[in-house]
Amino acid sequence: MSRPSPEHRPSTTSSGRPRRPLPGSGLAKGLAVTLRTMTRKTVTEQYPDAQPELPPRTRGVIGLFEENCTVCMLCARECPDWCIYIDSHKETVPAAAPGGRDRSRNVLDRFAIDFSLCMYCGICIEVCPFDALFWSPEFEYSETDIRDLTHERDKLREWMWTVPAPPALDPGAEEPKELVAAGKTADKLAAQQQTARQEAAQQDAPRATEPHADAQASAADAQASAADQQARAADEQARAAERPTRPMGDSKQQTDQPRTTSDQAQPTSDQPEQEGRS
Ligand code: SF4
Ligand code: SF4
Repeated sequence: MSRPSPEHRPSTTSSGRPRRPLPGSGLAKGLAVTLRTMTRKTVTEQYPDAQPELPPRTRGVIGLFEENCTVCMLCARECPDWCIYIDSHKETVPAAAPGGRDRSRNVLDRFAIDFSLCMYCGICIEVCPFDALFWSPEFEYSETDIRDLTHERDKLREWMWTVPAPPALDPGAEEPKELVAAGKTADKLAAQQQTARQEAAQQDAPRATEPHADAQASAADAQASAADQQARAADEQARAAERPTRPMGDSKQQTDQPRTTSDQAQPTSDQPEQEGRS
């Protein structure tokens, strides 16, 4: 059994009896503690009004980067809680080159983690040989139904986008070989795209002259129709010149009394013959 420290040991008189504390000494001690803590920096987190600043390696939730997963099942086998569920099927991939052999590969059907069982040990992330699992600092995924704590692959993928970027490399460190390989692939793809664009531009070049030809043809059509209109206008002018010119008054007279002579010549049905006889 450990002894109490000297400051916590009750003081005694010379006869060995415990010394009686001075009146008000307890109050003074309490006030001293209050004063001491008042001057210290506060450590209370005002969550949820203020989000806590968590360290980047916080074990909040696990994110799955599906493209890297080869369905090797290592994580599910090593999980001490058996809370990783993986389903897959095999698919045959045709040979890349003629004469080669077809290959089979695993295709992921289901990847789920039951976070109601997970104990956040991180073994699955450690053992994954293909960097498909990552810790995310997100922690706000409590549910009212425990079954909703089983996160399927879509949900695990969403967590992936909350994974913080890895810390920067030390100055002078070698560039990671994954980045070098990814850079080479990106350069190759960019060169292929550039070539494809140039070829497409060359194929489009003859087509580009067609609009000019069309424009020339339409301009010629417009000229031809303008010439036709001019010819028609000239014909009309010629016909108008051939017609005898009449004064305006005559023409009005004609319009006011157009059928007087003919009406007189052809009697109406109301007065057929009487007028004619008279
Ligand atoms: S963190 Fe541990 S308990 Fe949770 S899924 Fe991974 S291996 Fe299983
Ligand atoms: S260990 Fe990695 S690659 Fe293998 S099944 Fe698990 S997540 Fe996928």
